[in-house]
Amino acid sequence: MDSVTDKLLQCFGHRKFKSELQERAVRAINRGVHDVFVSMPTGSGKSLCFQLPAMLQDNKVAIVFSPLLALIKDQIDHLAKLKIVAESVNSKMTSKDRERVLNDLRSMKPDTRFLYITPEQAATDTFKSLMEHLVKYKKVSYVVVDEAHCVSEWGHDFRPDYLKLGHLREKHKEIPWVALTATAGVEVVKDIMTNLKLLTPVAQFKTPSFRRNLFYDVIYQNCLKSEDRISIQEQWSKGECPCVCATVSFGMGVDKASVRAVAHWGLAQNESGRAGRDGKSAFCRIYYCRSERNAVDFLLKSEIGRCKTPEQKKRCKNAYKSFEIMVKYCEERAVRRALEQHTRRAMSARLQGGGLVVTQDSSDLYGEGRYGQEREA
Ligand code: ADP
Ligand code: MG
Repeated sequence: MDSVTDKLLQCFGHRKFKSELQERAVRAINRGVHDVFVSMPTGSGKSLCFQLPAMLQDNKVAIVFSPLLALIKDQIDHLAKLKIVAESVNSKMTSKDRERVLNDLRSMKPDTRFLYITPEQAATDTFKSLMEHLVKYKKVSYVVVDEAHCVSEWGHDFRPDYLKLGHLREKHKEIPWVALTATAGVEVVKDIMTNLKLLTPVAQFKTPSFRRNLFYDVIYQNCLKSEDRISIQEQWSKGECPCVCATVSFGMGVDKASVRAVAHWGLAQNESGRAGRDGKSAFCRIYYCRSERNAVDFLLKSEIGRCKTPEQKKRCKNAYKSFEIMVKYCEERAVRRALEQHTRRAMSARLQGGGLVVTQDSSDLYGEGRYGQEREA
């Protein structure tokens, strides 16, 4: 047993390291010679990599940047159970609590071993002057950046305020930094190194983020086989099946006079034409949302931009005009109100004969499936 394994048991109650990599990372951070980058999958014990070495440095505080207050609370609670004093300075605290934490940190022998803060907090004057003070009296053990992928635009949780931490790294070159993440993509790692301005050579401890306990599976969808489609259409026409959920192409030429309701999931084209051909009241509803409107607006405008002939351009512009009318209809309350009275009457009429729910398909809305492809891209 050495002082490291001693502390592992004494402070954290673990008899051994979770992995060889965890031990190597702990020992490298403890040496404090280089900046350290740790990339290990979620649950592999990254926190201990910086918490254990920090406990070996008496009268010093580790500054830990973490992206979320909920995450900070979780870590502080976990350390409190181990009787290790960890604090935070954040906007949600009472001023009394804040003063208590700041007073302790400014004292000669602070009780606080870990100060957890968000990157936003790092930009405040309170933190800047506290940092100056702690550095001046050599009270900072390490600066830790947890969830370090937040500094990369390639990561899934990019946080612009993480970028500002790079200045702090440049300002206090004498303090070792530790960055940890479960994301190991090449671009993300590159961003972590450059954006946090870690001092080279950086000691890196990485395991692939492959998680053995997750089993991935891909099955081809049996898309709307044509036989199924025909039989469903027949059942619907005969009234055996009261409601069909379909794409816009369904029902285009279907001669069913008694459609009592058409619901459009998304911006409608002209499918309401399929309702009430028997002359009786029918109910048509659009589920409209602005993000969908913006997406369609973008796609139609790009389509206009791509037109090569004047005929194409005219057709696309007409499509855009129809779209504008539809948007206007959906958005203008006055127009809608006037029509609501009519539809309310239709709603109260008993729905007979069946309904049709229309969704917009990638294939036939704006031709050649471009709509769907661009949306996925
Ligand atoms: P990560 O940040 O990598 O997702 P955590 O630091 O939250 O993982 O640790 C995950 C769990 O592993 C925690 O419950 C922690 O107490 C436990 N753990 C860490 N190191 C060890 C160890 N050496 N032995 C046993 N459990 C450990
Ligand atoms: Mg973690």
